[in-house]
Amino acid sequence: MANELIDLLVQSAGTWLFEGHRSGLTDREWMALRFLARANRFSKTPSALATYLGTTRTSASQIATVLTEKGLLTRKPSAEDKRSIALCVTPEGTKFLDRDPISALRDQVVTLELADRTRLRDALRRALVGLDMAVRPHHTDVCSECMFLAERSKQKSSYFECRLFRKELAFKETELLCTHFERRS
Ligand code: SF4
Repeated sequence: MANELIDLLVQSAGTWLFEGHRSGLTDREWMALRFLARANRFSKTPSALATYLGTTRTSASQIATVLTEKGLLTRKPSAEDKRSIALCVTPEGTKFLDRDPISALRDQVVTLELADRTRLRDALRRALVGLDMAVRPHHTDVCSECMFLAERSKQKSSYFECRLFRKELAFKETELLCTHFERRS
């Protein structure tokens, strides 16, 4: 059963891991564009991109340059750290994501029952947590599972705060990807 599952995962990877170009970009370039479209404001830097791609900062910057030259990304001064830049997906980049080769797999996942999708998501997350402990220091994830997320209240209304960056987070931001994520123990 475990081998069968792994084989299915390997076969599904064919939609996002491939040789050459699909719809105009390499698999790494698609991965970078997809990530930056879902990254929170602390994770749009070249070093966060390098962390997500599991590559060097130089390689991540080269990928960002290709995407910038195609008009899919733009570099802006970071609002969080004046010494850093933020890699922001342009409106053209957002539209270009409609051509993402991984959409074929996403369309199939969407047809699953909600309960099946939830079980699949939770099972994959548990497997990744196990991998984190075994071979990887951490992975990128959303705030809801992070030890730094705190719920606060002010004038009878509640809000979220990131205790790592000491910044208030809008609810929508808690659903974005963060490379500074640390799992609750
Ligand atoms: S709470 Fe965790 S995942 Fe969310 S912004 Fe802070 S460090 Fe990142």
